[in-house]
Amino acid sequence: MRLDALTLYDFRNYAHLEAQFVPGVNLILGENAQGKTNLLEAVAYLSTGRSFRTARPQELVRFGADFADLNAELFSAGRQQTARAVLFAGRRPRQIYVGGVKQKTAAALDGLLTTVLFCPEELQVLKGGAAARRKLIDTALCQLRPNYARALAEYTKLLDSKSRILKDWHEMPSLLEPLPEFSLRMAQVGAVIVSYRARYLKKLAEAAAEYHSEFSGGQERLTLSYQTVSTIDDPFADQKTLFERIFEHQKRHERAEIDAGQCLTGPHKDDFETFINDRPVKSYGSQGQTRTASISLKLAERELMRRDTGEEPLLLLDDVLSELDAKRQDFVLNQIRTGQVLITCCETDRLTELGKVMLIRDGELI
Ligand code: ATP
Ligand code: MG
Repeated sequence: MRLDALTLYDFRNYAHLEAQFVPGVNLILGENAQGKTNLLEAVAYLSTGRSFRTARPQELVRFGADFADLNAELFSAGRQQTARAVLFAGRRPRQIYVGGVKQKTAAALDGLLTTVLFCPEELQVLKGGAAARRKLIDTALCQLRPNYARALAEYTKLLDSKSRILKDWHEMPSLLEPLPEFSLRMAQVGAVIVSYRARYLKKLAEAAAEYHSEFSGGQERLTLSYQTVSTIDDPFADQKTLFERIFEHQKRHERAEIDAGQCLTGPHKDDFETFINDRPVKSYGSQGQTRTASISLKLAERELMRRDTGEEPLLLLDDVLSELDAKRQDFVLNQIRTGQVLITCCETDRLTELGKVMLIRDGELI
């Protein structure tokens, strides 16, 4: 898997960009607010069909422009391919093209260009709220498993509808009528989600433990535990059993949900906890341990993609190296010797000898 070229029109602060990439390390250099992260965001968008910074595609269109046009030339699954996204400033839905052919949904992009993004916020992912950890699992799984991506999309829609009902039924009690139907379907789709997450996290944990152990000279043992709906005692059980457990939990909380006006039960509350030598990182991890653990998770994510697709995913490192001390920088740099990498950094960094250097100034490639 390789990104060869990127062409942008009216994307973020780029009026027009034509960039070519080498198979190894591509260094995207520039001062603050010049467009480095924007460039990674464009690549990630063509990879996952969404932005890692905003849920509002309109924000991606350059101020004053009507639409943004993103194009990638890439080598994937043994052949040259193209991916394109057109995003509109107004309400018009976005358009996705693969090989010049218009696609019904962005799911067509999944697996075409797999990417792993690593940014400074992720160094804190193990300390903060559960949403960021769910996002980490979901972003990876959606790229690897189209069935998961579909289930998650359906679940998100159901959750939206059910939440609206629970919020508004006071004004219109008849809204409650279809509630059991939504709950039932959410339990069915929820079972699919839990099943995929459990299996993915198990593999992620094994791979991450190896990286973490290597970095800590064998001193520290990193483990993860998946936390899902409390009635599920075995997340590896078959989907029928998972469904029954989720449904049971839902039934128990039916009244509470209506009273609270909120959707209280289901895998949208999932989380995972990390431990170093059996102590929770969240409460006891030092800054350094937390960072190393999150680096290990990211490297593990990349390894699982490589194993699964047989191709090295494109690694997008946004500003993350400058946040690390020399020892951790070297650890990361040593691990990324193979495969293609896009690294952003500021002009003063020590990384300039690594590969092709691309200087960005005010939305232009110099
Ligand atoms: P840093 O080193 O601080 O992370 P950066 O080079 O990564 O900087 P970006 O996040 O890529 O900077 O953003 C560059 C600029 O893009 C910002 O000044 C921002 O105002 C501008 N920008 C963001 N969205 C748009 C848009 N829709 N149209 C025009 N400019 C935009
Ligand atoms: Mg940036």
